[in-house]
Amino acid sequence: PCTDFDMAYFHSYAHLGIHQEMIKDRVRTETYREAIMRHQSFIAGKVVVDVGCGTGILAIFCAQAGAKRVYAVDASDIALQANEVVKANNLSDVIVVLHGRVEDVEIDEEVDVIISEWMGYMLLYESMLGSVITARDRWLKPGGLILPSSATLYMAPVTHSDRYGESIDFWRNVYGIDMSAMLSLAKQCAFEEPSVETITGENILTWPHVVKYIDCYSVTIRELETVTTTFKFNSMMRAPLHGFAFWFDVEFNGSEIPSNYHSSTSFTDNHLVNGCQRKKRTNPSEALVLSTAPEDPPTHWQQTLIYFYDPIELEQDQVIEGLVTLTQSKENARFMNIHLEYTSGGRSYVKESVMR
Ligand code: SAH
Repeated sequence: PCTDFDMAYFHSYAHLGIHQEMIKDRVRTETYREAIMRHQSFIAGKVVVDVGCGTGILAIFCAQAGAKRVYAVDASDIALQANEVVKANNLSDVIVVLHGRVEDVEIDEEVDVIISEWMGYMLLYESMLGSVITARDRWLKPGGLILPSSATLYMAPVTHSDRYGESIDFWRNVYGIDMSAMLSLAKQCAFEEPSVETITGENILTWPHVVKYIDCYSVTIRELETVTTTFKFNSMMRAPLHGFAFWFDVEFNGSEIPSNYHSSTSFTDNHLVNGCQRKKRTNPSEALVLSTAPEDPPTHWQQTLIYFYDPIELEQDQVIEGLVTLTQSKENARFMNIHLEYTSGGRSYVKESVMR
């Protein structure tokens, strides 16, 4: 059923600004275009569905790659504009814009390809992947192609004194006045909720941990309701630990390319020694990756930070271990509850936050 929350969600995508932001994110848009072009021989002459077409940009790329027909589906009123764009580009004979939810619209044939840009902040926020799964289970032919083909969510411990200082230490001396009485409120206001911001490789204290690997061909909606993982980090340096960063990447593998390659292996020591250095790809199959990692070029997703109210002073090699659970909120399935437990230096902490 389409809830009021869904209505509000689709309404938010009726504004052009959000589409402009996504399209202007060249890392995002050009990687999608490249993925479509790399699979041109598969796409040519085939039937495609674009799950959540927005302005229609990915559907048009697929038409340019020679698709026989593209069903461009969007429940937001942006679909009306997408239809005008399709007409103005003389693509009405190829692209069929369907204004409705993927869960509700009818497509009277099986499709060879599903393309979708479904990733939210921290990968799973917005929980749009469920709609891609629905499209897959409703229409995709056996042996069909899903782009992207897999996704990986990572986390790593972070040090970020500048950010902590400007939000918190600021209150210690305000025009010469001691406003430390504000400190606990300042911590709550600044760090209660996850924060979307750009950090660099230099903020990361050690190798990332894979929170969740998703194979888009086999993932189920059930599996996404709760994602939980235990982690154990060894800080590679002595530094204050301010929280954890989360980011993701997605891969565009064809059905002909093995999907067992795991992108976390593409980290090298380089990014720890020098946070500015690009990660060296050790990917044997040359899979195309759209990365939102701190050491890669920034995207509109940035990274998602969960800050602690108080930093932990880490020694080199100090262990931080714990557990993180991401759950779709009961109140609104588009929101995400983040439950974090962590232990370091003999003390344990719990942090609950909601991404809304
Ligand atoms: N493909 C476009 C837009 C991506 S944003 C681009 O790459 O620029 C995601 C879009 O998916 C939004 O426009 C949103 O309205 C749509 N969407 C999300 N869930 C959907 C669903 N269940 N059915 C139809 N459209 C959906």
